[in-house]
Amino acid sequence: MRLYIHIPFCKRRCHYCDFYSCTAFTDAGEYFDAVRQEALLRRSEAAGLPLGSIYFGGGTPSAVDSAHIAELLATVGREYGLADNPEITVEANPDDITPQWLRTMRQAGVNRLSIGVQSFNDDELQRLNRRHDAKQARHSVKMATDAGFDNCSIDLMYGLPHQDLHSWEYSIEQAIALNISHISAYMLTWHPNTEFWRQLRNNMLSTPDDELCIRQFRLLKRALTAAGYLHYEISNFARPHRIATHNTAYWRNEPYIGIGPSAHSYDGTTRRWNVADMPRYIRQINARHKWWESETLTLTDKYNDLIITSLRTMWGVSKLTLKNLNPRFSTHFSRTVEQFIADGSIVVSNDSYILSDNGMLLSDHIMEELMFVPPEH
Ligand code: SF4
Repeated sequence: MRLYIHIPFCKRRCHYCDFYSCTAFTDAGEYFDAVRQEALLRRSEAAGLPLGSIYFGGGTPSAVDSAHIAELLATVGREYGLADNPEITVEANPDDITPQWLRTMRQAGVNRLSIGVQSFNDDELQRLNRRHDAKQARHSVKMATDAGFDNCSIDLMYGLPHQDLHSWEYSIEQAIALNISHISAYMLTWHPNTEFWRQLRNNMLSTPDDELCIRQFRLLKRALTAAGYLHYEISNFARPHRIATHNTAYWRNEPYIGIGPSAHSYDGTTRRWNVADMPRYIRQINARHKWWESETLTLTDKYNDLIITSLRTMWGVSKLTLKNLNPRFSTHFSRTVEQFIADGSIVVSNDSYILSDNGMLLSDHIMEELMFVPPEH
């Protein structure tokens, strides 16, 4: 079993982000009481299933008092069964990381950090409205490795406004020079309700050229594989044996429990999501009023989930899994996949269908085609 804990606090909003978080920390104490209660109320969902990973995401877990994270982790360790050597990750912003914070995290049992670097170019960081600069980013990773965190990931972003190929290459080189175990590199998504979206609509920004984004992706793949990283998911690269087990479980459709406002859970049959509103979340937990909504997955939902998760990874969709599905889905898949095999965007290897590099560039379109839409009555 996997456990995700959402920490919905950010010191300020980044211009591209649409995750649920608040910039006022006044409710933090009450929030941690509520999330602890949710963890206790839901322990039966993990009965007999030791936690293989725990992930504190956000928001910005490093922005809150580190004692809250340590106490919550102690509660989970006491109340849930833990697998041997579970992966315990905390997301952190470079400017929050201090030797004292790192010590507290290590003592609490955290063994993996995911650091939101995004870029090593100060102009880009300012445009994104990040709180740190490139120097702080490098220093934070060095402090983390010096403190004994040998499993560190950093996030990078490409497809940014005014980011040319040269600047992207510089960020990749800086990341490689830090010799960390994992790099997540995301192409910017333009979300409604973000500052970037507002600037785009007011002609203050323009979207980057598609051709440039393609060249940035190819450069990323070439540089990181040459540096010894394994490209195991569209946006994720790892040193051998450092694949993120928590996120990989999502892509393999394994069950997980998500606690905190806006967190999602999945048990193999039902998808459930908590209210994305912290005051309401706290009120409803305290009153034991339902704080989530849920839906039972149909066979079509399960097939479509399989496509959009498995196909993102280097393991792809296995023929055996397809064979065991209702023939309606396997027939649809076999018919539709032919065109993508013919144009080289999907390759068949080890009895699985796997996206090629070209296929990854067209992944949204390919997944959409392979998904099943039931005929209307
Ligand atoms: S990117 Fe991270 S730090 Fe920035 S607003 Fe979103 S959750 Fe907060």
